[in-house]
Amino acid sequence: MFEIKNVSKQYNGEFALNDISFKMGKGLNFIIGASGSGKTTLLKIISGMEQDFDGEAYYCGKSIKELTSNEKGYYYNNIFGFIWQDFNLLEDLSVLENVLLPQYLKNNQNQKYAATLLTDLKIFDLAHQKVKYLSGGQKQRVAIARELMKNPQVIIADEPTSALDEKTAKTTMDILRDISKKRTVIVVTHDTNLIDNQSKIIHLDKGELIATPQEIVTTTENLKYDKSHRLSIKNAFALTKSNVRRKFGRFSVSTLALMVAGILCLTTVSGAIGGSSQGEFDKLIDTYGEGLKDITVVGSFTSAKGTEGNTEEKPSADVTQDIGGLYDKYVGDERVDFTAFSQAVDDIKVTVSGKEYQIQKTGSVPTINKLVAGNMPTGKNNEIVVPESFVKTLGISNEQLIGKEIDFNGSVYNWDTGEPVLKDVSLTATIVGVADTTAYDEVEGKVIEYSVDDSFFFSKSALDDLRGQAEIKNKPMDFLIRAKTPADMISIKDELNENGIVPLGRFELVEDIVRLNKQTTEQSGTASVLIGILSIVMVIAIFLITGFMRKREFAIYKVSGFHNAHLSLLNLTEMITQTITAILLMLVTSPLIDLATKGLFGVNILTTKMLLTGVLLIALLAIVAYFTTAIAIIKTNTTKALKTGDR
Ligand code: ADP
Ligand code: MG
Repeated sequence: MFEIKNVSKQYNGEFALNDISFKMGKGLNFIIGASGSGKTTLLKIISGMEQDFDGEAYYCGKSIKELTSNEKGYYYNNIFGFIWQDFNLLEDLSVLENVLLPQYLKNNQNQKYAATLLTDLKIFDLAHQKVKYLSGGQKQRVAIARELMKNPQVIIADEPTSALDEKTAKTTMDILRDISKKRTVIVVTHDTNLIDNQSKIIHLDKGELIATPQEIVTTTENLKYDKSHRLSIKNAFALTKSNVRRKFGRFSVSTLALMVAGILCLTTVSGAIGGSSQGEFDKLIDTYGEGLKDITVVGSFTSAKGTEGNTEEKPSADVTQDIGGLYDKYVGDERVDFTAFSQAVDDIKVTVSGKEYQIQKTGSVPTINKLVAGNMPTGKNNEIVVPESFVKTLGISNEQLIGKEIDFNGSVYNWDTGEPVLKDVSLTATIVGVADTTAYDEVEGKVIEYSVDDSFFFSKSALDDLRGQAEIKNKPMDFLIRAKTPADMISIKDELNENGIVPLGRFELVEDIVRLNKQTTEQSGTASVLIGILSIVMVIAIFLITGFMRKREFAIYKVSGFHNAHLSLLNLTEMITQTITAILLMLVTSPLIDLATKGLFGVNILTTKMLLTGVLLIALLAIVAYFTTAIAIIKTNTTKALKTGDR
């Protein structure tokens, strides 16, 4: 039974209730009074929805003011039932689903009791009907059934009939009167026609009590606080399932938002938007070969690259420069892919596995497009890299040749005297690599490709051996540096220039590309970061809006006994369901998405790494969405979200 002691409640300095004291027991109790007299305020205090007031309110000796939110959850699930003017049902759920709502917090749902209640209330035939298609009177009976499912000691009803016509209002009152035979029923109404002379009446006028019931039946209810009041994971998923089924549109929008935002973030983090301008350089490599990244360091040359005698326009001058020590400096540089000596050898004959081969003479300097097997020589032993075209004539695979000994014979020019003197050389070396020796040359604006079949590359010790045999004493050997990236190439060139060395290479072409790359990377970089941020904002906005649109729903859960921890678990199971769906959807539609991301951002998502990153990003966004929804849940104030009374 209830005991109200000197309760006052003020709103903005005005008394909604002024020093009210009374007791209320079993049976049907009416709280009546004109609109604004404080009836709803009193109900909120009695039910614990309003805990900020002066005075004391007790239910069976327990202070309602001091109920914790967990205790309130337990009370709303087991002790207090609420009947509202506008029913507060989940409109998209079926009658049965609504009636079973408080039961999700119990270990097993008592379907049989639900069926009995629906039959008693004459709505059994409507069990699987969506609530939104019912009439007001039917809805109120569903609400009553839901509250009776709690088997509560007290039913609190605020204007339960004011939205109903006269006939259904009477039926509803008859039901409540029937319930009051066993339980405490408190009904707020201003319709005095519904009151019979057996009922107890609490009459309020402008916040003051002007009549209280004469006699009250005092009973002491058994007030146990059962800790097993919890939402099991199984029930949370069951509730999620009916929510997804009934609110499929909402579910689809949130799931799609997660997926789309995940993909947009993926294009951001892939950095592959920058990679699409990287594609420009790859195109150039297709045309000019890997040798585009070569820096040739030579001891002397004729300026303006005038080796072909093209010296009319630019003054011809022989440049000599000291390149001593530079090979050793760059051989281990981290910007360098590899280095190679450009020693030309004429009339090459080689012997492998006892068989001699004559190598086609090309008259070009040794050329390497790329290494296709093994490594470049490291310098310590007599090592050699042979052209792939030669391996083809042997009829074995590149790998099979590696590690074999080769006898190398040829002739080398000695220019020490200023005149070329041809010297025969020979050595034995180990084959450590095979190179594609295609050269790309520009002739009258067109790039032509040809294979330089006599391109052999030696280790430093092998080369020293050869030059020793040719009695070359002059100047260090010319060599080439293959830079790892275009940017590395430019950086090495600049460094050489600073040291007074003029290297040879297609620097202008590469510099243009590097500049273009930098620009587009910066621009698309900003754009892609913006896209990433916007997609996160989109997820937050959608889940915040959905969350706040669900305030009424969350409030209905709360008055059914769910507290924040239960709702957080429900949020979690909903989010897990959405995340898994979004991930599956992304994986299934990835070939299609790939077309879009390729077209829009030049991003290929069809790699394991990209898809895994996509999965991870969707999961991360789901965490953001989880907390966004959690804010809406915590911010849901039951009494504000649910319209109470006739206000
Ligand atoms: P009743 O249910 O009898 O119509 P209420 O309890 O709703 O009356 O309201 C009593 C008085 O308190 C009214 O004057 C109303 O304007 C005021 N009131 C009620 N709730 C609030 C509130 N949340 N904020 C400010 N004033 C309120
Ligand atoms: Mg009211």
